[in-house]
Amino acid sequence: MHKLLLLITAFAVLALNVNGQSLDAMIDRDIASWLTTYRNLHMAPELSHREEKTSAFVAGELRKLGFTVTERIGTYQNDQQWVGYGIVGVLKNGPGPTVLVRTELDALPVEEKTGVPFASTVKTKNDAGLEVGVMHACGHDIHMTSFLGTAKMLTELKSRWSGTLVMLGQPAEETGDGANAMLRDNLYTNIPKPDFAIALHDKPELETGKVGYTPGYAMASATSIDIKIRGVGGHGSAPELAKDPIVVAAQVVMALQTIVSRENSPLDPAVVTVGSIHGGTRYNIIPDEVNLQLTVRTYKEEVRKRVLGSIERIVKGVVATAGIPEDRAPVIKIAEGTGSTYNDPKLVDRLVVAFKQALGDENVVQMPPIMASEDFGYFSLDHKIPATIFWLGASDPAKVKQSRESGVPLPGLHSALFAPVPEPTLRTGVKAMTSAVLDLMKK
Ligand SMILES: [Zn+2]
Ligand SMILES: [Zn+2]
Repeated sequence: MHKLLLLITAFAVLALNVNGQSLDAMIDRDIASWLTTYRNLHMAPELSHREEKTSAFVAGELRKLGFTVTERIGTYQNDQQWVGYGIVGVLKNGPGPTVLVRTELDALPVEEKTGVPFASTVKTKNDAGLEVGVMHACGHDIHMTSFLGTAKMLTELKSRWSGTLVMLGQPAEETGDGANAMLRDNLYTNIPKPDFAIALHDKPELETGKVGYTPGYAMASATSIDIKIRGVGGHGSAPELAKDPIVVAAQVVMALQTIVSRENSPLDPAVVTVGSIHGGTRYNIIPDEVNLQLTVRTYKEEVRKRVLGSIERIVKGVVATAGIPEDRAPVIKIAEGTGSTYNDPKLVDRLVVAFKQALGDENVVQMPPIMASEDFGYFSLDHKIPATIFWLGASDPAKVKQSRESGVPLPGLHSALFAPVPEPTLRTGVKAMTSAVLDLMKK
């Protein structure tokens, strides 16, 4: 009798597993292989626009899981020589919504200084021909591994969801042009257009084991601007015979400060930063020109347009005031920027419930928006497709506590010292993303 009871209990436990009640057990089973994947990716980072091996690896893994995979998606506007290394894996599993899950594929020109045993030693020549170290200093290796883990969990849990799953690997996130390159290459006519798009990004300021969410605008748009202020060069001893572009550039830098402080509503966040200023060669020469590089950050598109208009007006106005002839007018180039990231509030609400069920209430926290940027928002086609990116805690809780108490920040994203805690972070990443997709496609 007792034996029978034992048998029934064993069957009950087995049934629970088959029904996917034990996502934790499935994660336990696979975590060692994910850690290997993570270390291998970490040791072999590739710069933006050059993600050849990384994308082939991710594509191969999705294919093994039964996804229909398309590779080499992406057409870059600025440089036709670059190959678009975007990939998508599609898994159709009956009627229902199409959910897109994104990971980035690229790494950064940073020489790793973490000292971890699997630290990157990769060096390559950048576009300027200089040798640079390459590192996954933004944690895209964590994202790819969580992404592949999620894909595996969802293929095994096919009985619990219905719909179409699109797993998308995006190149060139760090340069801000990869998402657009994929869309320009007719992404949404070649794959089913998603009803929802989700992504995660690791966050060093958040404890591993936790996820963070930000409803509404979460990250800013970023626009790069090149300004060439042209003057009339001459001898440093005879300013009356020249039009000094250095003085004009200095006035321009100061005048630009009034855009945010005097022209913009304090309720609409905006940043105008002059990050680079170069002009002249030596003490006694008034140069012909000065070059400035700016970054502009805003949430709303109308604010971005207005700020760009103000920059143009101010630069031209200051130059005209200096009496620089019209044929030496300033040259202003606005590069293709990155749109802001808007997390659909309804979708966020829905995922927060799923996250809390999976991770516990205390491990799901709201976080403030930031002015950093990311091109994931493009996949929402200007907010038409509900999309959200959520934060994945990546640091040892004791270190986060220490950092909050001392006010000394932990090494941030893009730092040569950024070292997420791999195991708990991957566990949480897979669990959170799998739970999110299961919720959106549940039967
Ligand atoms: Zn980054
Ligand atoms: Zn990143």
